[in-house]
Amino acid sequence: MSQSVTVRVPAKVNVQLAVGAARPDGFHDLANVFLAVGLYDEVTVTPADALRVTCSGPDASQVPLDASNLAARAATALGARHGIAPDVHIHIAKDIPVAGGMAGGSADAAGALLACDALWNTGSTRDELLALCAGLGSDVPFSLVGGAALGVGRGEQLTPVEVGGTFHWVFAVADGGLSTPAVYREFDRLTAGTRVPAPVVSPTLLDALRSGDTAALAGALSNDLQAPALSLRPSLARTLAAGTVAGARAALVSGSGPTTAFLAEDEAAARALADALTASGTCRTARTAVSPAPGATLC
Ligand code: ATP
Repeated sequence: MSQSVTVRVPAKVNVQLAVGAARPDGFHDLANVFLAVGLYDEVTVTPADALRVTCSGPDASQVPLDASNLAARAATALGARHGIAPDVHIHIAKDIPVAGGMAGGSADAAGALLACDALWNTGSTRDELLALCAGLGSDVPFSLVGGAALGVGRGEQLTPVEVGGTFHWVFAVADGGLSTPAVYREFDRLTAGTRVPAPVVSPTLLDALRSGDTAALAGALSNDLQAPALSLRPSLARTLAAGTVAGARAALVSGSGPTTAFLAEDEAAARALADALTASGTCRTARTAVSPAPGATLC
């Protein structure tokens, strides 16, 4: 009998990220529409003498392998909840860009949680797992559920959103990451002294997702973290322009960046756009992916 459990878990793009003013606790209220995209990490857990994390893939050297790894924190949290020592080897086969605004660490946390839950046969309900996810980070519950969802509060209170078709994306991966807390601090700096409106989900965006219409979605995308991400990394403007010139239906920063996301008409257009972006020299590499994608899934 195999003692290993593997879970496949997707990246996300925020098709709307409306950010409110900083709260007294430092967090920001959000209206955050997540869309899972078909770029995946695979998280494998195997019983071991002690908790240990390994990682493979092109960005593996940027992933911490100590107790700060979000997958290790997820295993520890689930073990603590059930009185189980989290003695597992967690291997992350990483394909999601690291520190790229695509929730790769959150994906690994959700993947490790689901994998350990299956390995230890804890009998946790979906709601119990979601509560543990929310304790690990604002984006982690969505990595578990996938598809598309509206997140309010810090983004962790989720409502499913209907998607009526397939959307084709290109993601331009930048050299180096951007720290999400630093991007929020830049948002605070840029909006200091102004009245930041309460974040509200866009009905036009929800209609566009429901209709599966690429042109409608292209016109409805928005990201309040784009200005602060561009302020910290002005070179991203060149990547966005290169994608637009190459025929993208829309171009935006993915979450807190520095990955940039481009909407394409169909699969062929996405491939051509990825080639053009790679050739433009404004990004490290460009990847195609479709959405929506399923959430964390046992392999
Ligand atoms: P988000 O979109 O949720 O803001 P992100 O995609 O920008 O996140 P991550 O890839 O999640 O960023 O990584 C952010 C930081 O988290 C990394 O720089 C790394 O130090 C740390 N980290 C901890 N665990 C992991 C993990 N399993 N994979 C990647 N990074 C991790």
